[in-house]
Amino acid sequence: MTAALTHPAWQARAARLDIATGLFIEGQYVAALSNETFDCINPATGALLARMARGQAADVDRAVASCLAAWRDGRWAKQAPRTRAAVLLKWADLVEAHSEELALLETLDMGKPISDMFNIDLPEVLKTIRYFAECIDKIEGAVTHTDPSALHTITHEPLGVVGAITPWNYPMLMAVWKLAPILAAGNCVVLKPAEQAPLTCTRLAQLFVDAGGPAGVFNVVNGMGAEAGKALALHMDVDKITFTGSTAVGKLLLGYAGQSNMKRVALETGGKSPQIFMPDLYDFDAAVDRAIGGILDNAGQVCNAGSRLLVHRSLHDRFVARFVERAATLYQPGDPLDPATTMGPLVSQAQRANVQARISRALEQGATQVLPALAAGLNAAGAYVAPTLFTHVRQDMAIVQEETFGPVASVQAFDTEAEAIALANDSVYGLAASVWTADLKTAHRMGAALQAGVVWVNCFGDGDMTQPFGGYKQSGNSRDKYKDSLLSYLQTKSTWINLA
Ligand code: NAD
Repeated sequence: MTAALTHPAWQARAARLDIATGLFIEGQYVAALSNETFDCINPATGALLARMARGQAADVDRAVASCLAAWRDGRWAKQAPRTRAAVLLKWADLVEAHSEELALLETLDMGKPISDMFNIDLPEVLKTIRYFAECIDKIEGAVTHTDPSALHTITHEPLGVVGAITPWNYPMLMAVWKLAPILAAGNCVVLKPAEQAPLTCTRLAQLFVDAGGPAGVFNVVNGMGAEAGKALALHMDVDKITFTGSTAVGKLLLGYAGQSNMKRVALETGGKSPQIFMPDLYDFDAAVDRAIGGILDNAGQVCNAGSRLLVHRSLHDRFVARFVERAATLYQPGDPLDPATTMGPLVSQAQRANVQARISRALEQGATQVLPALAAGLNAAGAYVAPTLFTHVRQDMAIVQEETFGPVASVQAFDTEAEAIALANDSVYGLAASVWTADLKTAHRMGAALQAGVVWVNCFGDGDMTQPFGGYKQSGNSRDKYKDSLLSYLQTKSTWINLA
């Protein structure tokens, strides 16, 4: 896939884009019952893109009731697995056929470079849907060895109604990491997308219906987290909440489950991933380039962003010099509609202010800034933050301990492997980590010692659908991708039959 159009051609398409603003319930776009809306802003320009229906508790009730009816009459769950697979495969084909529209919506909404949509987000969305469509009939139960007077079967059944609450950094992809296994397993779903970037999610639901998915199986309620999201998480007819977002909200969701029906809660939350560079790198220049990508891709708005660079003291100064030189070449913030742009604005002015505040705090705490925080010559109305790097940081500084969710990294020198591991693991998070070394034994030893759900060796961010993705510690309690994630939307039934 490529962003085949030119910059002016994308701008022209953006100007005449048709944006669906409703909630999506029972196969149709509908206004919120209150008729209230919220503004959807283009973070590259500050322009108003759309006034989106603002769903609240009553709309969540309506969406859950629609799912519950679909669940009870079995219009999806009781279809043959191959029939469900065919719908999901057709859905993927329709998403692919609408890739220009979806890419444009997400780029305008979130500020993501249009090239990233074609190089990363859309291919990953398609792979995810197709992978789980192909998994549907590979799920098997068991007949266990028991006394001959009994027959014991173990089967897997869908849960019922699942609520999915998703973030804004990869709006479609994070939603599809949930939606594809939820739907493949035979559940019905209410999706509550992030209010900062909601435009593509209702289109995904419409395309599911166009692909033959029954109305009511996949509903979308846009709105605020503390309104629609909270109502979904507290709902008595929702059997599971699956969430990607901040650790703070993840903790609230655990509480909401306890206050309501003890629904299952699957959490993919924050991170502060270390990238460790040992003195025996294979290829120093290539490693620094990948380190830069590990923090600056998606303007650093990545849960597993490699924001803590731990570099052996013998390489430290060379590493910093090379990082500064190459970061400016590889990641120049620009108009996300220009296919040459590698870094767009942050998702919103609010997020820009958050990141700027964290940069100011790092300076107050004594860190040294070696890459500028503000890029010159960018649209002043855009939520831009340029690549930023800090040296002379201490382990207890906020810039080392707290998630920034912007294009900001820190570098720390270490002397021994044990020190590198201790620094890397000294975090409440444990989503991902990388080790760069030419020695296989070092790689194995360090990989085992790192407290992270994903460890990369001599790469960062690599993987495919066979990789379970999720964190240790406060980075979450579940995994997306891989076939185990399909199992997590099923429940296990033991049936013991007395044959005597
Ligand atoms: P966020 O937690 O603010 O919001 C995520 C979602 O939760 C949004 O849809 C929001 O409306 C909703 N929400 C907010 N308050 C709520 C409440 N009280 N009840 C119910 N729902 C509520 O996160 P964000 O700022 O959108 O996304 C950034 C965060 O997501 C970062 O912390 C990042 O690390 C994390 N993230 C994690 C992964 C992963 O796989 N681990 C992937 C992407 C992003």
